[in-house]
Amino acid sequence: MAAAYDGIIIGAGVMGASSALQLAAAGMKKLLVVEKGPGVGSGSTGRSTAIIRQTYSNYEVSLMAHEALRLFQNWRDFVRLPQERAHFNNCGVMFLFRNDEPSLPHILAMHRRVGVRSSVLDADDKARMFPDLDFAATPPELVEAGGGESHEVQALYEHEGGFADPVGTAEDMLDAARALGVEVRFRTRVTAIRQVGGRVRAVELARDAGREEVHAPVVVNCAGPWAMRLNELAGYPLAHRMVPVRVQIVCKHFSERLKGPLPMMADMVSGFYCRLEASGTQLILGSVKEEDEREEVADPDHYNEVADAPFRERLLALLHNRVPTFKVRGRITSYAGLYTINKVDSHPIIDQSELQGYFNVNGFSGHGFKLSPVVGMIVAQKVLGQWGRGSTAVPLDFFDKDRKPLATHWGGVIA
Ligand SMILES: Cc1cc2nc3c(=O)[nH]c(=O)nc-3n(C[C@H](O)[C@H](O)[C@H](O)COP(=O)(O)OP(=O)(O)OC[C@H]3O[C@@H](n4cnc5c(N)ncnc54)[C@H](O)[C@@H]3O)c2cc1C
Repeated sequence: MAAAYDGIIIGAGVMGASSALQLAAAGMKKLLVVEKGPGVGSGSTGRSTAIIRQTYSNYEVSLMAHEALRLFQNWRDFVRLPQERAHFNNCGVMFLFRNDEPSLPHILAMHRRVGVRSSVLDADDKARMFPDLDFAATPPELVEAGGGESHEVQALYEHEGGFADPVGTAEDMLDAARALGVEVRFRTRVTAIRQVGGRVRAVELARDAGREEVHAPVVVNCAGPWAMRLNELAGYPLAHRMVPVRVQIVCKHFSERLKGPLPMMADMVSGFYCRLEASGTQLILGSVKEEDEREEVADPDHYNEVADAPFRERLLALLHNRVPTFKVRGRITSYAGLYTINKVDSHPIIDQSELQGYFNVNGFSGHGFKLSPVVGMIVAQKVLGQWGRGSTAVPLDFFDKDRKPLATHWGGVIA
């Protein structure tokens, strides 16, 4: 007879791990997580730069990030493990905006409403807090023209932002779920989703040469960039097109001595973001330009996983321009990963599909990592009508598949 569970989660990235923890905490008894990769974080999670910031154009996303930040700050209490792996690094988050950036008052008002601790830095703050940065650097494209007028940028600083280890975060949540009785199978791929009368009934699992059918009345699609494929297997494509998009990351190893700390920095004027890694001997850099998030990938199992040379050179030039302490190029490595972008409005769907019992938890673009601890709470509430280990004040219909498309004021990147 086929094995039977109360629920099956597809994917062991941050979303699958969080959903498993919260569903188990909310009372789901027999829960199985299946992951086709050899371990946690085989998809987008393992490539994430894992920045935790609260500046978003929608109140709901900002609030959710704020709630999640509190969990990252109290991670040990949240996961309740003898030894947690993830560690929240409170390096601060700084956005650089043009001097005439029209959305700054709106952002500050949003921060006050949500409770984000932030400040616009004055000239003294900038020089004292971040002496390595040139806040008046002439953008590289204007250097040849002589630069002209002042290019001093505005610096908006989130005092409580930072980053955490993405795989450690997912592993911790999955271990916390295991401690509540959840079963996890790696190297196990969902190859079919079966239904009866418009209700999900079972999934087919493939491992090595073997196949097995496993029954459950609830199946949660946390398959990240593979989400659409799973929906095709289920026979219920979402109206929201969830597209895997290749994004590139550059890693610069350096030996220069910094004069002061470097926060996580999103330079919206030059078009890049960066943060320190590897105990401060490496800098990881990405783009904040929406045009760098347009390369759709047909097959998430096969794409170019290394950054392109022109992209690497462009980001390094922008970095060296903004942070003159970096005098030499250093050893450069790079990689590419996948965002899953909801082409309708750039925001995720956390909702039951037309197939009863089958849930989508997809479309987190470049901000799913930070939201993930709260996402599982929403999953538990939507699946069981119960909160698990915590709750959110974010209205749950914000994530409905039938919502009106949400506004994003600053394009795909801040979303
Ligand atoms: C380069 C990069 C930088 C990022 N930076 C940030 C950041 O700074 N801050 C932030 O908040 N977010 C960031 N993100 C986004 C964030 O990492 C993602 O939103 C998040 O990791 C998505 O998690 P997930 O669990 O939905 O997907 P994934 O981590 O992709 O997990 C899906 C899992 O499903 C498995 N799977 C797929 N199909 C099947 C199947 N048929 N059977 C079994 N298993 C299957 C896959 O192997 C995979 O492990 C970044 C992402 C990338 C790529």
